[in-house]
Amino acid sequence: MSSDRVYDIAVVGAGPAGLSAAINAAIRRKDVLVLAKSDMSYSLSKAPKVDNYLGMMDISGPDMYKAFVAHARKFDININIESVTNILPGDASFDLLTDKGYYRSRSLVLAIGVPQKADIDGEAHLLGKGVSYCATCDGPLYKGKDVAVIGYTPQAEEEVEYLCEIARTVYYLPQYKIDSDRAEQLTAKSAALSMLAGKPLAIEGEGHVSGLMYGRKGKEELTVGVDGVFVLRPAVPVETLLPGLETEDGAIVVARDMSTSVRGAFAAGDCTGAPLQIAKAVGEGQIAALSAVKYLSTLES
Ligand SMILES: Cc1cc2nc3c(=O)[nH]c(=O)nc-3n(C[C@H](O)[C@H](O)[C@H](O)COP(=O)(O)OP(=O)(O)OC[C@H]3O[C@@H](n4cnc5c(N)ncnc54)[C@H](O)[C@@H]3O)c2cc1C
Repeated sequence: MSSDRVYDIAVVGAGPAGLSAAINAAIRRKDVLVLAKSDMSYSLSKAPKVDNYLGMMDISGPDMYKAFVAHARKFDININIESVTNILPGDASFDLLTDKGYYRSRSLVLAIGVPQKADIDGEAHLLGKGVSYCATCDGPLYKGKDVAVIGYTPQAEEEVEYLCEIARTVYYLPQYKIDSDRAEQLTAKSAALSMLAGKPLAIEGEGHVSGLMYGRKGKEELTVGVDGVFVLRPAVPVETLLPGLETEDGAIVVARDMSTSVRGAFAAGDCTGAPLQIAKAVGEGQIAALSAVKYLSTLES
């Protein structure tokens, strides 16, 4: 959590790219902070069998992830389960805001997984004006008000339950297959919850969110009036995470040394674009860490 400590390298993400970066930074004796949204790589958790990673044939994604974490633990690397909501570049350092606190680091490796885009109509424009990516951070602003949550993974359900304790009405629009028993269980827990079905079509509002349009484009377009919309994807869209970060089609633009358009910030893995593969993520994580080490030496000289 928050302290006066200034880390050498903050790694955001603990998938194959982030853990590879962290291990290589630790080998180079750097003070490393690892922050991850959850204690499992979402992509690897979905991989039933991985056959194309050198030396690990016929292994499931979750088992492979366990092996990666065990490797990191050997180097005393702890994974802090915290979601990074915003990164502010400063003078030769970065301030990282999470749903639990605040950290400072002299360099950064972004390894946040599959590139996510702010692709709902009105989302980018109304970000910070009723659109939020973090229920824990912004939930208290909606005490007694009406909100909608668009959840892309079952992890969003926890945030829905939290918002039900605060808001008057919580409309939940899951974008994954939620079974009817689970939906009933959630609605039975709180009278504030109302389940919706369909795709998010537009977040509406002039200057501030006033509604969410959902359903099927051109066929069944419905709107609920809300004061806020929480968009809960597996990762925050990169272009909104760090100001000044250059992206192309949602992916972070990197040079061969994995440096980004922001000085001192490096990126690795799926968030830099295709191929979305483990071996590429691990390799890029290593290059990003070594480039961050080199960058730190320029600060010291
Ligand atoms: C069904 C499926 C099967 C696959 N099969 C294969 C295969 O056989 N072979 C292969 O090579 N690849 C396969 N892949 C792809 C592989 O899983 C990915 O390429 C790999 O996991 C990418 O690693 P990564 O570290 O870049 O991202 P991820 O593994 O996605 O890790 C991203 C990390 O970032 C964290 N994070 C995201 N946002 C934030 C935030 N705001 N704050 C803090 N932490 C954050 C997440 O919690 C996670 O720790 C498969 C993927 C899927 C979905």
